[in-house]
Amino acid sequence: MVICRCGFQTVIRTSHTDANPGRQFHCCPRQGTRGCGFVAWVIPPICPMCSELLAKLDRTTSMNEDVGRKLFAEKKKTESSIFHKLDEVFHIHNDQVIRCN
Ligand SMILES: [Zn+2]
Repeated sequence: MVICRCGFQTVIRTSHTDANPGRQFHCCPRQGTRGCGFVAWVIPPICPMCSELLAKLDRTTSMNEDVGRKLFAEKKKTESSIFHKLDEVFHIHNDQVIRCN
């Protein structure tokens, strides 16, 4: 258990900076000016090469999440368009599919 200067048990957060991506750190549970500003790494520093690789991985993961969100939105748009076109061609009446025109 790690105690901050206020006397509270610290909370663990994750860094998303380029210098320390994915590293967890203890910090004061009180936010802003009410807190004491206590910060300490959960595990010791890693080598520069690992730090650089983790930074790249963090950026790549973030980019992939953006691409995933765009693809999902595109898929929904395409599905909506297809259903709209099907509605124009077919008409469903009492569970029977009737072709329009
Ligand atoms: Zn504190």
